[in-house]
Amino acid sequence: MPTSRFTLNGNLSASNRIARQINRNLIFNQIRVKQPISRAELARTSGLQRSTVSLIVEELLTDRWVVEGLTGEIPRGRKPTFLNINGQRGVLALDIHPAHAMLAVTDLGGKIISLDSVEFPANPQNVIGAILNSVKKMLRAHPNRTFEGIGINLPGRFDPHLEKSIFAPNVDWPIGQLKSSVERATGLPVVVDNVANACALSEIWFGHSDKIHDLVVVNVSEGIGTGIFANGHLLRGQAGVAGEFGHVQLDPNGVRCGCGGKGCWETIASNRAGMRYFAEIAKKPISSFDALIQLAKADDDAAKQALTMMCKALGRGMHMIALALAPGEIVVVGDIANVWDLAGPVIEAEMRSFALVRAPSIRSAREGNKARLRSAVALIMNSKVL
Ligand SMILES: [Zn+2]
Repeated sequence: MPTSRFTLNGNLSASNRIARQINRNLIFNQIRVKQPISRAELARTSGLQRSTVSLIVEELLTDRWVVEGLTGEIPRGRKPTFLNINGQRGVLALDIHPAHAMLAVTDLGGKIISLDSVEFPANPQNVIGAILNSVKKMLRAHPNRTFEGIGINLPGRFDPHLEKSIFAPNVDWPIGQLKSSVERATGLPVVVDNVANACALSEIWFGHSDKIHDLVVVNVSEGIGTGIFANGHLLRGQAGVAGEFGHVQLDPNGVRCGCGGKGCWETIASNRAGMRYFAEIAKKPISSFDALIQLAKADDDAAKQALTMMCKALGRGMHMIALALAPGEIVVVGDIANVWDLAGPVIEAEMRSFALVRAPSIRSAREGNKARLRSAVALIMNSKVL
């Protein structure tokens, strides 16, 4: 019996369902990566029995996630029919930051078809309206595509049942109303989750951490949040607020944090911290974290120093995570992954400079900039098989 890889309620009677979900996910991902592909080839590459593969393929065809395409040519015997991901179906992915959002239309495999962004208006009361306009515009631009739903990543923790935000210290607009507003405006199913949780799910859903059942995603952006996949489940804790390592105090003399605390991990290791370090070293402010990344890529000393300080602080927090949760992998999501050659070794060395029982491997998310958007797709796709 394989270990569950999905967010479930831990119901034992569901164990058969779990195995079927895992196999279905495996087959879907094989089709996604290797399309066009025949059933026979799927059986070979997945290691599943032909009959199991056929059953799952029928299910995927019925759900119209997969379509049959061209017939293949082989020297003798029955001609195989190739399978493809259904290109007519899609997901709208919405990645919400405190002051802007990214939107994408993707296929069911998370491949980005079109991309847009929206800067939020200064008045907090107008933010949801601006998001709705962008969503409707995006849907109108794809009239021939059938949408499975809208996956939304949120900065902060959000109770999906109470439909209100529980903890979002970097957000000053009514984020708790977003889910119901988007549902009303579009009529589509909407799934929301914290961005780090979504990214952890995405690593599992899109098969990047196939053999790993304990991984932590550290999302480094305006703040820091973690998504914890432990014992094959997304760990949510009371009211869904688990994973706020970003607000553990690491510097008692540090700067004030959005949560009201002082010297939290995110005050020394987030993008904002990197920009602050640069301003201190270069004696001039920098307009954005992306500008800081570009400077570092251009070999600017102050920029590289600032990012090194930020990455050391990241490594200190990773040490805390490694000790607390003993994950097999820590996956870093965020702009810092764009300079992984610089960041990765600093983070890893700092983490290992403290005593560890077992060191996890640390890597950046494979899709780089697209990881957050892809994770919003994983929210929708995962919700369809539960
Ligand atoms: Zn804090």
